[in-house]
Amino acid sequence: MSGNKGYGVHPTVYGNLSDKDLCALYLESSWSKMDESSRQQLLQETVNRSAAAKGELGACEVRFADLDSSTLGQQSGNVIEINRDVFAKDVYTHNYNGHIIQEKAVDSNMRALETVLHEDIHAWQNQCINGTIQCSDPNLLTEYKANNFTISLVPDGKGGQQPGSHYLNGKTVKTGYYMYYFQSTERDAHLYSERQTLQIINNLQQKYGADKSILTYQKNVSLNGYHTTYRQGQALFGNNNFDKEINQVLVNQYYGTNVAVDPKIQSAVQKEMAASYQFQIRPSVDHKGEKAMGKNYTPVTIEDYDNSMRSTVNAFYEHAKNDPSMSHEEVVAQTSQMAENYLNTMDELQTAHENGEIASVNDNEAMAETTSDAGAGVSDSGLGDDGGSGNGGLGDDGGVGDDGGLE
Ligand SMILES: [Zn+2]
Repeated sequence: MSGNKGYGVHPTVYGNLSDKDLCALYLESSWSKMDESSRQQLLQETVNRSAAAKGELGACEVRFADLDSSTLGQQSGNVIEINRDVFAKDVYTHNYNGHIIQEKAVDSNMRALETVLHEDIHAWQNQCINGTIQCSDPNLLTEYKANNFTISLVPDGKGGQQPGSHYLNGKTVKTGYYMYYFQSTERDAHLYSERQTLQIINNLQQKYGADKSILTYQKNVSLNGYHTTYRQGQALFGNNNFDKEINQVLVNQYYGTNVAVDPKIQSAVQKEMAASYQFQIRPSVDHKGEKAMGKNYTPVTIEDYDNSMRSTVNAFYEHAKNDPSMSHEEVVAQTSQMAENYLNTMDELQTAHENGEIASVNDNEAMAETTSDAGAGVSDSGLGDDGGSGNGGLGDDGGVGDDGGLE
């Protein structure tokens, strides 16, 4: 069991299954029949094998937790917490003006798989950073160390300096989300967990055909996945290698080096560092040391946004009608307020599109408190990946450790 350092083993009822049979439990037909404890065992077994494949010492314990609706999972110390509403009850919960709106999570099975793989990559990174295990790629280790929960001083804009966090929570307007997403630790967690999930799904699809959850997950990846997000970042920063620049700024800050970087990106990262630091020291929130994985509310196209917002307005209306605490007038007033907000946002998006700007709703109130991120998508990579192996289940497709890493 786990000692002081907690690098435990967590045997499960699925320990004897082959990788292929274990993966088949993620099919909608199996997943939908599994209760919370069976799902916990499946996710734990997945993490056990993922950790072993990457050479981690022990494996994190997987727990369901009542997380904020925007956070799918988080990893801290030797524990991975995953969202109970989404992954045990299959619902996304939105809070609109104090009213709880629930939406069915159609691909909770595949999202759960991606989420635990994502969080396990953070666990592996942490063991590399703290020296528990040896990182096979020294350049990667350099980046990871410069992207941890440490502090350095950044310009405060008034000629002085202020503290900034080397882990970026994505708190600055517009570009913050992309700095969160493509800082080295999150970049790799997003890319590799999405790629592994897609590979597992492809194998399942070949053998069993597609189910609704598979199609939904694949669609979400193409809309909000890694490669789409990467292209958005390129446009937003006006720099095709913006991710390298972001991480070089963190490396320069951490090691005191002075490698030339895009000055605009440097300034943006330094502002984000300061904003993240302020976020992490807020007394009511204990986010220090946690790397969260959230649900991305950012649709890519206007049509997509239109559809999702219309259904949210409708869902709110349906909910409000049946809410005994609301009068009919309140229902109508709040629904029309919501519809108006939606139409205004549609106008803004339309204008932004016409001006050739990237349509991003990351900055509006739809993004919740905590850091959010997307599922992520694969088909090619901005990071010099090897295209994946396409064989096998969890164990043999590696993840960061044996996948060749970044170039
Ligand atoms: Zn993460």
